[in-house]
Amino acid sequence: MQSERLKRLPPYLFAEIDAKKRAMREKGVDIIDLSIGDPDIPTPKHVIEAFCEGAHDARNHRYPPYNGTQEFREAAVSYLKETKGVDLDPNSEALTLIGSKEGIAHAPLAFLDPGDVVLIPSPGYPVYTTASLLSGCVPYEMPLKKENGFLPDLGSIPKDVLKKAKLIFLNYPNNPTAAVATKDFFKDAVDFAKGNGLVLCHDAAYIDIVYDGYKAPSILEVPGAKDVAVEFYSLSKTYNMTGWRLGFAAGNKGLIESLGKLKTNIDSSATAAVQHGGAVAMTSSQDCVVNACKTYKNRRDVLVEALNKKGWNVVKPKATFYVWVEIPTKEDSRSFASKILEKTGVVVTPGLGFGSAGEGFIRFSVSYPTERIEEAVHRISSL
Ligand SMILES: *Cc1c(COP(=O)(O)O)cnc(C)c1O
Repeated sequence: MQSERLKRLPPYLFAEIDAKKRAMREKGVDIIDLSIGDPDIPTPKHVIEAFCEGAHDARNHRYPPYNGTQEFREAAVSYLKETKGVDLDPNSEALTLIGSKEGIAHAPLAFLDPGDVVLIPSPGYPVYTTASLLSGCVPYEMPLKKENGFLPDLGSIPKDVLKKAKLIFLNYPNNPTAAVATKDFFKDAVDFAKGNGLVLCHDAAYIDIVYDGYKAPSILEVPGAKDVAVEFYSLSKTYNMTGWRLGFAAGNKGLIESLGKLKTNIDSSATAAVQHGGAVAMTSSQDCVVNACKTYKNRRDVLVEALNKKGWNVVKPKATFYVWVEIPTKEDSRSFASKILEKTGVVVTPGLGFGSAGEGFIRFSVSYPTERIEEAVHRISSL
């Protein structure tokens, strides 16, 4: 049995590639899967030690506070103050999440009503669309075009769509395009949200995965952003903690309160010992983050330089651990990814999987061991 709600979700597009991958693996082909963004670098030792210490503390064996532990929310706020100069109240403007995906997935349900339109970047993280559909909302795709630096053209959204729109999702540094946004763009986005009565949800999952001296801004650095915006933070990518499930939401008090109210009725916050580890991660030395970025940067360079040697014309991204590559032939993204897999055993993600405007591109993730990326590059070079 399946609800109509679930039936409304878009079809899974990668069955064919999955089947091919499985068949090749069974034949003994050494598959190099670069299709998922999930750090291969272990969680830093001092963070694991803090988890363990938290696990031994009997106070953490009982329910955590619904909105997250005081220690974690204070650490989140002090991290934002330290790294972005943003001032927030840990009690009313920050909320622990069981990974940022959880908060993003609950946002439409907490803020909107059925029939409300949600402005969604395409290509984009698929959860924006699925969460909107599950809440009975209507997604409207804002294409992220190469000629606009993969930023949405807010001025081109039709008036009749804007009339019904209640929420806009943004995500910079961006998955899958690896594009970054300036603070000026964020200022325009905040003005746009204010002018059109929109809630602005900014997904900041890759805010700390940056290269070449680039520093990614928080949307909360824009004066007045707190009037309309909530920002979703993930510890997954910053501290190699995808398996521990921890993130937080920060920003507008009313939005934090609504999201908290919804969550009170669904979950009971992230594991307290994990929140202790997360608090330690955010308040101790950030050298581990700097080192992880160095590793990703080297892999990025190996990959981009090799693809350019083939004449593929790829730019080195300033952030995220993705490389977004325009398909050099006329093939569509699924056929092209399939061809790469068949000929080289390397798995990449077809852009179409991130929305219709992702067609024409494929995504590589460099969250895999350097020698595997070197081997993948070697095989693709002779494609
Ligand atoms: C990985 C990712 C997330 C989810 O992160 P979790 O905190 O692990 O749930 C959210 N948004 C984007 C764009 C991501 O790539």
